[in-house]
Amino acid sequence: MGLHKIETRIAEAEAKYGRAPGSVALIAVSKVQPAERVEAVLREGHRLFGENYVQEAQGKWPAWRAAFPDVAVHMIGPLQTNKAKIAVDLFEAIHTLDRPSLATKLANLAQARGASPDLFIQVNTGREPQKAGVLPEDLDAFVAEARAMDLPVHGLMCIPPEDEDPAPHFAALAGMAARNGLAGLSMGMSSDFEAAIAAGATHVRVGSAIFGARDYAAR
Ligand SMILES: *Cc1c(COP(=O)(O)O)cnc(C)c1O
Repeated sequence: MGLHKIETRIAEAEAKYGRAPGSVALIAVSKVQPAERVEAVLREGHRLFGENYVQEAQGKWPAWRAAFPDVAVHMIGPLQTNKAKIAVDLFEAIHTLDRPSLATKLANLAQARGASPDLFIQVNTGREPQKAGVLPEDLDAFVAEARAMDLPVHGLMCIPPEDEDPAPHFAALAGMAARNGLAGLSMGMSSDFEAAIAAGATHVRVGSAIFGARDYAAR
């Protein structure tokens, strides 16, 4: 485990599956991790991180950004509409656009600021009732709706069901992105990022395999 081990495995997967070297971005998911673990990875030179909670990110990243100005932080957790304004100021990308009300809010903020984070639309490929994301059959219309609002839709994101083979979900997401002309594919976590790279992931989101297990109780 650790950053370098994961970087090596990503490079090996790129080679194995015919992906261009460096074509897969590693988002180091730092949610809930103790500061010293995140700082160690920053000192190792890594600059792309993922967070799930707006308030937590707001508390941690301003100081780290001051120390490491070229850092980028992506929002990968569900985003409440009433936190959207804070989120667009905090994050370079949001991977969890999943409903028209949030799209409208982000479009209004983008117009007011003259800029928007890159956006990924989350798709509920497993149709799980407890999980966020647009249903597959609603995706094409939602992509069109977001584009009509001038939102910078960069790609799609999914979290496959925990108890299923993720590969068919990754393949399905890749097909949806291709048919909508979207280049970005945010998929793959600690347990399945190599399968995601095989299916075309451009962004893998890896937390515990880099930082160690999360301790929610100690937060
Ligand atoms: C927490 C989280 C991850 C990282 O999970 P690990 O299993 O620790 O790699 C990736 N994506 C999302 C959306 C997450 O919430």
